Amino acid sequence: MKALIIVDVQNDFLPGGALAVPEGDRVIPVINKISKRFPVVVATQDWHPATHMSFAVNQPGDKRPFEEGIVGGVRQVLWPVHCVQGSDGAALAAALDQEPVHAIIRKGTDPDIDSYSAFFDMQGKNSTGLDGYLRSRNVDEIYVSGLAADVCVYFTIMDGLQLGYSCYLIEDASRAVEVEKGDYEKARQRMLQAGAKIIDSERL
Ligand SMILES: [Zn+2]
Repeated sequence: MKALIIVDVQNDFLPGGALAVPEGDRVIPVINKISKRFPVVVATQDWHPATHMSFAVNQPGDKRPFEEGIVGGVRQVLWPVHCVQGSDGAALAAALDQEPVHAIIRKGTDPDIDSYSAFFDMQGKNSTGLDGYLRSRNVDEIYVSGLAADVCVYFTIMDGLQLGYSCYLIEDASRAVEVEKGDYEKARQRMLQAGAKIIDSERL
């Protein structure tokens, strides 16, 4: 059984948002075109309390967005305030067709640890429930779309492979944030090496 995972197509990640992914809005028409074809569709939302430690402003010292820091014992990039629970920025993009979406998984809700992956937090400890949901529907192939290709989409695919799913990145339904130039190419190579397949929506 195939599932489409729509990662974090939220206002804050679109052009004009608090943590805009370049061309992030371009994924929406592609996702809208393909989502009805999948028997299982799950959307995710980054869903942080305002006190979330991944926000540079909540870190000790004079940390700035896009610098590195430690969040829950894990070294990662620190971000501007984004996707605060219940805010407009955290809402799914209005242009995203939600009718085909069966379930919404929210992640990053623990203030002390981030969750790039739609499956687990950054320590790999706490499950979001996505794996159980997919297994209960006999899903064995996941097609991943959304934002950002080199962060949350990437981590979702790497965890999906670990969990034994066949994983496809729908490349034209995703865009990278590239905090460092070249991040996407590196992520792309790692996904391929780990066994993911990269396709365009035309080939579905
Ligand atoms: Zn976040």
